[in-house]
Amino acid sequence: MFADNVEKVLISEEEIVSRCKELGAQISKDYEGKDPIIIGLLKGSVPFMAELIKNITIDCEMEFMAVSSYSGVESMGDVKIVKDLDRSIKGENVLIVEDIVDTGKTLEKVKELLYSKGAKSVKVVSLLDKPSRRIVDIEAEYVGFSIPDAFVIGFGLDFNQKYRNLPFVGVLKEECYK
Ligand code: 5GP
Repeated sequence: MFADNVEKVLISEEEIVSRCKELGAQISKDYEGKDPIIIGLLKGSVPFMAELIKNITIDCEMEFMAVSSYSGVESMGDVKIVKDLDRSIKGENVLIVEDIVDTGKTLEKVKELLYSKGAKSVKVVSLLDKPSRRIVDIEAEYVGFSIPDAFVIGFGLDFNQKYRNLPFVGVLKEECYK
């Protein structure tokens, strides 16, 4: 069974659902009257964005973009735009939805890009944060859970494109990638 490769459950579905309620309430309060454009980074952010957006109670729009930076478990360094936005974000308040902030390189590049497209403000909500791995000086304004340095899968996070459909965040067994 594919879930046999999970070493342990780190964050349960119930914990994620409950944290999304809190994050959604905070974001709704902070962005009242600002009609944010909520941009999900494909593909990892999709389950988190779906859960979060249900708890956002103000006018907002949803957009997606795709960048690539990883293959397997290690960073390849450079960040490439694979799918760009479909609309202009000039003068708009943008909220990026990310699955995890690790080294911070992806967010640095994406924020830079969105500001270069004329965004008025660019903030970040991330399901997970691995602060011990940070290389770039960048923080998400809203974080679901801060986690230790382990390779995690589930709730959108993959290992070679698999496991995104697990309903929890778990640690992948080391033997799967060693
Ligand atoms: P960063 O640019 O911050 O180093 O990396 C961000 C991206 O790396 C995330 O969007 C995610 O795709 C990938 N990543 C970083 N850590 C993990 C992890 O523990 N598990 C998985 N599945 N992906 C990760």
